[in-house]
Amino acid sequence: MGELRKRRLEFLGIYHSHPHWLDINEPSPKDIALACSSEAIYFIVTPRPYAITPIRAFSIREGRVLELEIRVLR
Ligand SMILES: [Zn+2]
Repeated sequence: MGELRKRRLEFLGIYHSHPHWLDINEPSPKDIALACSSEAIYFIVTPRPYAITPIRAFSIREGRVLELEIRVLR
């Protein structure tokens, strides 16, 4: 967090990938159990070519999962 402040960057969230799961980039039971920040957005990436949803975003609060919409602004 100190490095973010020093670089004047904004904390947006935490990401990880599910490289061994076929296009299932949604929080696993372990992801939900280990979610440590109710403020963070959890991005889960599927690094497979042609994935229908290569990046998904979730809010995880007190064990409840809510998928968030990702909009790409150009
Ligand atoms: Zn995961």
